[in-house]
Amino acid sequence: MHDVVIIGSGCAGLTAAIYAARANLKPLVIDGHEPGGQLSLTTMVENFPGFPEGILGPELIENMRTQAKKFGAEFKAGVVNEVDLTRRPFKITAGKDTYDAKTLIVAAGASARMLGLESERKLLGYGVSTCATCDGFFFRGKPIAVVGGGDSAMEEANFLSRYASKIYLVHRRNDFRASRIMIDRARANQKVEFVTPAIVEEILGHGNGAVDGIRVRHAETGAVREIKLDGVFVAIGHDPNTTAFRGKIETDANGYLIAKNGSKTTIPGVFVAGDVQDHRYRQAITAAGSGCMAALDAEKFLEEHEGQPASASFESDSAKHQAVAATPAATVESA
Ligand code: NAP
Repeated sequence: MHDVVIIGSGCAGLTAAIYAARANLKPLVIDGHEPGGQLSLTTMVENFPGFPEGILGPELIENMRTQAKKFGAEFKAGVVNEVDLTRRPFKITAGKDTYDAKTLIVAAGASARMLGLESERKLLGYGVSTCATCDGFFFRGKPIAVVGGGDSAMEEANFLSRYASKIYLVHRRNDFRASRIMIDRARANQKVEFVTPAIVEEILGHGNGAVDGIRVRHAETGAVREIKLDGVFVAIGHDPNTTAFRGKIETDANGYLIAKNGSKTTIPGVFVAGDVQDHRYRQAITAAGSGCMAALDAEKFLEEHEGQPASASFESDSAKHQAVAATPAATVESA
């Protein structure tokens, strides 16, 4: 039986682990399919407070992990594929292992959608990025591409025009999913050139692991064009990692878990943190902040419930939750 089980080992999960461990709750962290989360896929992080010279993403994550272990957090490799949240203790299953948890913090993160090119995978963190706020600064005075046709792509193109000398906005259709105002803003930006309808066939790199350009194919004529540039921002959306929680924890229309009143969900004892509940800010520091909130909320919850017989408060809560889980989101909202 664990006081706290934390699903996910990115910035949010590790910060929750540090706080829960320091509160003597001996949290168990289940790593997930990408141990360390999105930071482990980046290179230099220059906007995490406290590191004036910047710090490598994997190093920042390793430091957090060491810090959590120092206070007694336990780590297990594995991907959670099943949760039973209908009664406490909650049952968390990762492969062949099942864990009992008095409280659960879901910090499973979100994964940036990728184009699926081998060259993109190889050059991720070396000229290919999924985060303009994190990496834009490295492309001062350089030409880059932003791929995508949604609000993120438009927003990133505008944001990156502060740094880059030119931005090729590459989208596979002539129509955009982005809102009118965002498209107009990007079109009015002198540095942005729209390349549509175009499919990125290859990200070109020269031998030393840096981006050299892209090869795009016109979606209608098939004409191929090579564009010389130094960076590629893939902005084709994110998917929250919520497969195991679907239908169990309330989500918004885009599948993100909903946090209310801090990190709480509609299930007493289940808390959420990081990108799995945040499609807006998606920063290491905001994920860390929400991880801290979730640990404090879990600690408070345990304080309030510890010592009470499970049948008293726990079961009445979970009966209430079962009704909520089976109710459409709109009804839950007004309940
Ligand atoms: P999105 O709206 O889902 O748009 C994703 C874009 O990427 C689409 O244009 C899509 O093309 C393209 N795409 C998807 N898979 C692709 C692939 N394999 N190859 C090439 N292109 C691909 O995602 P988002 O832009 O990240 O926005 C997510 C949500 O956040 C939206 O609700 C958005 O309004 C919101 N948001 C709001 C703001 C703001 O208001 N400031 C800023 C950012 C995001 P197709 O259109 O052809 O499918």
